[in-house]
Amino acid sequence: MADSPIVHWFPGHMAKATRMITEYIKKVDVVIELLDARIPRSSANPVITELVGQKPHIVLLNKVDLADPKATKEWTEFFTKQGITVLAIDSKSGKGNKKLISTVERLSKPIIDRWVAKGIRSRSVRTIILGIPNVGKSTLINSLAGSAATRTANKAGHTRGQQWVKIGKNLELLDTPGVLWPKLEDQCAAARLAMTGAISDDVYDLEHVIKQLLNYLLTNTPNILVERYKLKEEEMTDVDTILESIGRRRGCLVSGGIVDFDKARRIILQDYRNTKLGTITLDKVD
Ligand code: GDP
Repeated sequence: MADSPIVHWFPGHMAKATRMITEYIKKVDVVIELLDARIPRSSANPVITELVGQKPHIVLLNKVDLADPKATKEWTEFFTKQGITVLAIDSKSGKGNKKLISTVERLSKPIIDRWVAKGIRSRSVRTIILGIPNVGKSTLINSLAGSAATRTANKAGHTRGQQWVKIGKNLELLDTPGVLWPKLEDQCAAARLAMTGAISDDVYDLEHVIKQLLNYLLTNTPNILVERYKLKEEEMTDVDTILESIGRRRGCLVSGGIVDFDKARRIILQDYRNTKLGTITLDKVD
């Protein structure tokens, strides 16, 4: 949630998260890692590969409705080339659910075959959703697991601790997501996490983040800036001039006709997040 409490990830928190995720991973057969399709690199947790180990692993590029379709295709090819199973989904609409379930089932087939070969009575295959805050984990779990009523009906007895919900014929999902910490030590990644709303608006420097965003837009999609804010060519020189011009166009003024820069910055941020500037993927494959 965009208004989720501020999470400061201190080494102690990371150690605790690592312990929890390691425990969770021991209990599952397949791991689902959720990334933000607009920032597949910046929204990845730095140690996820280490935590997942040898378990089959699916990467989901979520919020694909907000990302550039061409970039999503490139990212999909990038992961596929590395031998990683990847799907692009929009968990808000639930459109990719069927494909996701069938993909998890496909990945777990060798596991079931091994159980059968060893004569072990097969149980349901178990999976978990991992990702940094606000990447859409709860939205996806709710969409896969259905309403609260369905979930209660799904659960055998009054289970304490972990709750598994049936999402496929022979597939169970842990009802709690594994929360990983975001890559904040990388300044570029941190700014992109802020732009997309992955980290709380109270914990980053808006001035710095908007400077980075305008810089990105000026370099990559200047036409969008011109069209959206009706900027003149002579105003497209540098990010400070662009910010001031947007502020004036949008009437973000304080007494004396001075531009309220903070207000202008918030307008730009909202416009980016609401795709008013188009569907833009900030992380490029190369
Ligand atoms: P979590 O912290 O990872 O559990 O994230 P949430 O499930 O709470 O989602 C964070 C925000 O992203 C919410 O406002 C969701 O509505 C939104 N969201 C999640 N998935 C999608 C998606 O596929 N597309 C769009 N546009 N928004 C999404």
